[in-house]
Amino acid sequence: MSEKIIIGKEEWCGLSELGLPAVKARIDSGAKTSSLHAFNITPFIEDGLKYVHFDIHPLQDNRKVIQSCRGLVVGRRDVKSSSGEKERRHVIKTPITMGGETWEIEVTLTNRDSMGYRMLFGREAMKERVLIDPDASFCLGEVSREALEKYYTREHTKKNGLSIALLASNPELYSNKRIMEAGEERGHNMRFVNIRQCYMNISASTPEVHYRGGEVLNGVDAVIPRIKPAMTFYGCSIARQFETVGSYCLNDSISIAQSRDKLRSLQLLSTHSIPMPVTGFANSPVDTTNIIEMVGGAPLVVKLLEGTQGKGVVLAETNKAAESVINAFKSLQANILVQEFIKEANGRDIRCFVIDGKVVGSIQRQAAEGDFRANLHLGGKASSVLITPEERRIAIKAAKTMGLKVAGVDLIRASSGPKVLEINSSPGLQGIEDTTGKDIAGLMIEAIEKSFRNRQKAKR
Ligand code: ADP
Repeated sequence: MSEKIIIGKEEWCGLSELGLPAVKARIDSGAKTSSLHAFNITPFIEDGLKYVHFDIHPLQDNRKVIQSCRGLVVGRRDVKSSSGEKERRHVIKTPITMGGETWEIEVTLTNRDSMGYRMLFGREAMKERVLIDPDASFCLGEVSREALEKYYTREHTKKNGLSIALLASNPELYSNKRIMEAGEERGHNMRFVNIRQCYMNISASTPEVHYRGGEVLNGVDAVIPRIKPAMTFYGCSIARQFETVGSYCLNDSISIAQSRDKLRSLQLLSTHSIPMPVTGFANSPVDTTNIIEMVGGAPLVVKLLEGTQGKGVVLAETNKAAESVINAFKSLQANILVQEFIKEANGRDIRCFVIDGKVVGSIQRQAAEGDFRANLHLGGKASSVLITPEERRIAIKAAKTMGLKVAGVDLIRASSGPKVLEINSSPGLQGIEDTTGKDIAGLMIEAIEKSFRNRQKAKR
């Protein structure tokens, strides 16, 4: 064996098989296991072998550079972080290069952003090849900025980057900020387009989308519509105009419009045999008693068709109360649904975040004390949850039935099985990202990229 390499408490190393020519690592003989700060960690099987796909920001403090990697999985390991929390991680095997020498090491993948250094080099990986000088840094040399730029240049991604418009109302919302950030990280030209400031030319010869001061927005590759309920009509018209001029809409205008109509959504779900609570709808007060009977009597839930975030949802505990509530709503000419109350859910529901036919994350929401509505806006608390294969299948089918590429499917666990409550075409990102630690915004951008790759393939 060659002489030992002397290294300091931080060093640059190369993980060439992962496409990472230079990564700054903290050297810590106090830690047994080495780890890489990765995100979007997705295992898959190829030719009978287990692999994992993950993304990494190879440069510390720079979230704009992103590298997609894949590694061979050699196991799972429970690792205690410096904060004492236990976490089950994937372990991959990969060669490392340091001071001109290369050897195989095992690295665990974790998505704790608190790590700072992109890599932690632990004692197991040292394999008697290194000697540590704990007072020194970069004994093997620094890597220049120019070299890093060359390694991780964004030019190739920029050239291939798409022009993506986020069609929404409030750029300050967490979800909107994250979508902008995720697109930029992946080298796309992101643009926040305020729905209200769009107008259009709908003539047959030159359909156009115009923006404030007269700019024409016809060259946009893809649009991510995040239309708030109060803007449904105008927002969908603008999305439709973008479709007319050839932009790809992640969630098309027709699917958004139909998912906003609760009754239409439930009717669609029912034609596709997707389970939901027994639901009644009527226009005339004459039918009130009948409707109450139809859903099995009180307690029952009355829902305003136009309500959102749980605001138009009322629990009627007795038939008398149900009758009064229904008739009161009707006298205000409000359209309502009457639904069996799923008592056994105990104020809990499940939000499944579906992107491109996959459930990419799910959370359970628990209603605040004394409420039966689990909406986070009403003080509901989110926690992680493992969904059953049946729940996964129903969530995927529901999103597909509505034609939504991105959907928040709300399920409730009834004693007779999971039932769909509602499908949201602009599901919020904060609760799900905070609870699952996943880069959901990034997965939305990936869905656009995938659809463009497929289009190109089809063209070829
Ligand atoms: P919104 O669109 O206003 O959020 P939902 O139909 O999703 O309306 O209802 C809000 C919340 O009320 C749900 O998340 C769920 O916790 C609770 N809820 C709704 N319908 C029922 C029901 N039939 N039985 C029990 N709880 C319900």
